[in-house]
Amino acid sequence: MKIEKIELIRIAIPFESGREKKENAQQDYNAASPLLSKMETLLIKIHADNGLYGWGEAFGHLSNPVTYAALENLVAPFFIGRQFSSVSDIETLMKEAEVALHGFGRTGPVRYALSAVDIGLWDLLGKHQQTPLWYMLGATRHEIGLYPSLVSYDNDPHAIAQKVQEVVDSGYSEIKLHETQWEAIATARAVMGDERSLMVDVNCPWSPEEAFAHAQRLTDLNLKWLEEPVWPPEDVRGLAALREAGVPLAAGENAAGEGDFIHLILHHAVDFLQPSVCKVGGITAMLRVIKLAQAHQVKVIPHCFYYGAGMLATAHLVAMLPSDVRLEVPYLQWPTPLHPFLHYQPTMPLPTLPGLGFEPDSAVVAEHLLMTTCCTAAKENAHV
Ligand SMILES: [Mg+2]
Repeated sequence: MKIEKIELIRIAIPFESGREKKENAQQDYNAASPLLSKMETLLIKIHADNGLYGWGEAFGHLSNPVTYAALENLVAPFFIGRQFSSVSDIETLMKEAEVALHGFGRTGPVRYALSAVDIGLWDLLGKHQQTPLWYMLGATRHEIGLYPSLVSYDNDPHAIAQKVQEVVDSGYSEIKLHETQWEAIATARAVMGDERSLMVDVNCPWSPEEAFAHAQRLTDLNLKWLEEPVWPPEDVRGLAALREAGVPLAAGENAAGEGDFIHLILHHAVDFLQPSVCKVGGITAMLRVIKLAQAHQVKVIPHCFYYGAGMLATAHLVAMLPSDVRLEVPYLQWPTPLHPFLHYQPTMPLPTLPGLGFEPDSAVVAEHLLMTTCCTAAKENAHV
């Protein structure tokens, strides 16, 4: 197959989360922020010369204009005109791109753009081979569990209690919060009981000393993990020392590309590694991180705060991991869902269609489109 053109599609879809709407929406930079009422994503559609196309998704959220520019000006032109027909061809193409572009960052928008292309190439290959991605990856289970990843309710115990009760009533056995205060987290634990797993993602707010004090206090809440407690996220020694507090730790979504995972592993910094398919370099890089983690007997639970092709790519990857590994989903209600998998249930049957099995609703894309460009060659991009 020859890559003929790459469409870039930036959208923002409104969601409901059961929290108060606030002014100055979009001013906060974290996707779990209580200020957001729409969630952005950046999809790409890679067209091959045989008429097939593959979907990819890049991180992320409010930095999408920057990733978009990286795709349009650097990454998409690199791939147009290139040929591939196997997994090893994808590995070779990605390696060439990573080496050629390495001076522009082993993480950040260039890496996010490469991640999207890699996912799109795997989708194309699956369609070409008429095989679902999970089967190509050697997975044997056709159904995976989901865990809801709640947005932040700004440590409001009443709102947290209401939402956690809703999640429990829907039959989920694991829940992740984005809260920072013990009282808020304790409220969730009280509502959900001891038999379900509770995870807490704090998004890198604390020094190692502050994190130690918080973690010690959290030991009585029996967390499955505390996620990204330390600033900066690459402070692997700080994380390793924090494990002494007695709360399991998770991190990895902000690793500096796949190469950074070796530092998390060798410093025994975490209990759970969380590579993120739309950031780390796509499915090819995810497979290398999983292999590395397995060699060192560290558990991988992928990060996934995505609702497009990246969510489906992560679902297929989860299927090749142990059965107690669940797919993280941004727990939002979508008045205009982009695709049927956003009607969340505790378990998700994997697509039987070839490739990712991801096909966005074209009317929803059209309604919520922010920007689109068709990249056909370095200097011939058609803006709409
Ligand atoms: Mg996180």
